[in-house]
Amino acid sequence: MRVGRVDSPQSEGRSLKFPGSPLSSGPESLPEPGGPSSVHTPSTSASTPGAHLIIQNWRSGASIGHGSYGSVARALDVDNGFIFAVKKSTVTQSDEEDRKYLAKLREELDILRSLRHPNIICYLGHEYTGGTLYIFMELAEGGSLAKLLKEFGALEGALLRNTILGMLQGLVYLHTRNPVVVHRDIKSANVLLDLDFNVKLADFGCSKQVYDMSTSFHATGSFSWMAPEVILEKQGFGRKADIWSFGCTALESSTALPPWGKGAIDGMLSAVKLIGLSQQTPPIPESTLPSLKNLLQSCLQRAPDARPAASELLSHEYFMPPMKDKRRHHDSRVAWS
Ligand code: ATP
Repeated sequence: MRVGRVDSPQSEGRSLKFPGSPLSSGPESLPEPGGPSSVHTPSTSASTPGAHLIIQNWRSGASIGHGSYGSVARALDVDNGFIFAVKKSTVTQSDEEDRKYLAKLREELDILRSLRHPNIICYLGHEYTGGTLYIFMELAEGGSLAKLLKEFGALEGALLRNTILGMLQGLVYLHTRNPVVVHRDIKSANVLLDLDFNVKLADFGCSKQVYDMSTSFHATGSFSWMAPEVILEKQGFGRKADIWSFGCTALESSTALPPWGKGAIDGMLSAVKLIGLSQQTPPIPESTLPSLKNLLQSCLQRAPDARPAASELLSHEYFMPPMKDKRRHHDSRVAWS
């Protein structure tokens, strides 16, 4: 998720520095039909470890990994023993405009902090010291879905279904906030797992908004998951672009391959050619379960308006239990095996 980009012509210059605002304020801010009032989004404030902690005295521990814009490490709250993750990014503030942007970013981080859902990584706060922004997050011990697919291969059956459903439930939650939260960078590397295989959407990429000021948004490794309208930088893209990326990530989970296939996209040019300018969509293997194939095809439609809303997808047949189980499952959205 990216903070700071406003999809208006006036913001073009800034968008290179601070790509993407998850807190949409444009026409997409209105709740979707079937929005917050009708979507069941369980409160997890009680079950999200550390959600109410104010982290003050903490120590950084072992490194978990590095991204394009900083590093992530384990951290310990030395007052109460709470273990969490901290993302560290160097922030340069070379002019007044940068300083204003950092202030806005910190405001938005405070808003992200109020988000609570079992399928999104919980933001626990942030600290800005000595030119470094530290973002505190719930620790996902299982690592990323990308690493898991690399290690164990494609997911199947109920595990695949529950993984896709978890991503979708997180997305419904984000898309039905007021103001709407658009993730903008859904891909397997930004889907984290706990040790029970609960899926958590991550990378409310605050460090990505404050990365090296010379780096462009398009230098990120996310091309393969980007919707055509994002690649072509059409104005006003939002929730429907997330639906495309969600479709790409669901496809990737079922194949353990990048959405367009191995080596199909190796940079900006091939992305513009294949995703932006061709009429193609990511290839779905023949062997895919018909209901999953239908779900993927509906998300991977080139026209954004043709793609369903996240909340509509919750009732897709792929998530329905088999006929023989129907009497035992009153809520078809409950994970089944
Ligand atoms: P990029 O930022 O270039 O898209 P990335 O998303 O992998 O790449 P980061 O978000 O900086 O980069 O994450 C670096 C590593 O830390 C990744 O392996 C990621 O899975 C892991 N990670 C990030 N946040 C957490 C967290 N809250 N809990 C556990 N691991 C995390």
